Amino acid sequence: MFIFWGTKRVVKKLGYTADFCPICRDLQRFQIERAGMAGHLYGISLVEGKLIGHRKICLACKTATQTVLSLYKEVQRGLRNLTVAELIANTFPNIREHHANRLALEEHVRRNPGEIDPSVRIALIKESLYILSAEAENRPSDSLSNLIQVLEFIGCLFLGPFLAFKFAELLSDQYAGIAAGIAFVAGLAYVIFRSATATTRMLRSKIYPKLVLALKPIKPTQGELDSALAELRKEEMLIAKKLKENDLQMLVAATGAG
Ligand SMILES: [Zn+2]
Repeated sequence: MFIFWGTKRVVKKLGYTADFCPICRDLQRFQIERAGMAGHLYGISLVEGKLIGHRKICLACKTATQTVLSLYKEVQRGLRNLTVAELIANTFPNIREHHANRLALEEHVRRNPGEIDPSVRIALIKESLYILSAEAENRPSDSLSNLIQVLEFIGCLFLGPFLAFKFAELLSDQYAGIAAGIAFVAGLAYVIFRSATATTRMLRSKIYPKLVLALKPIKPTQGELDSALAELRKEEMLIAKKLKENDLQMLVAATGAG
């Protein structure tokens, strides 16, 4: 329903910085956004609004995480094809000191993940699951998916029954109504099925590939994944609730776990 006035979330793109990405497990280039709550009239807001927080979006894996602007020397307006090293020099020159412990841990993960303390391994697995579950929950629906949904809805509930009616009418007037009715029920069942499985499809296409990227260097065992997911289930995180047994098997296979 369209709300004529009230408050809404206003996102403003501020520019670019370098930072550490826990999904890529490396230093990367990020876009920085400011989120605020501002009054709007007919969906239009002319102010930035009261600050909710800042977030950084990794340009490599497109994952969004929270950040604080005071970390950066500056937020660069344009990217101008700068490399990660050049962006570090301009925006976050003490990045290696600031993230020293994490970068040392990631080096350890790359060299010999099996030697890392079991509690640290579980913490790393949970971190990836938390970040990506939060992203899945806060993901704005993209306009292309919305358009496809509307077209599916029109096609299944109106166009399909209409074509079935017209086609059946050519053969026999008597069965045209029945054909349209059957097409409508089938279309309705399809629309219900598609909306019931929308979250699972989004997780499989947008979120699980990132989970594979983040977990592959750790090579989690099935037991470690089960234990991390059990923790997330207690907090009703989306990934833990929706991850099916075959998705788990895919994760185990794709991350080289055993
Ligand atoms: Zn990334």
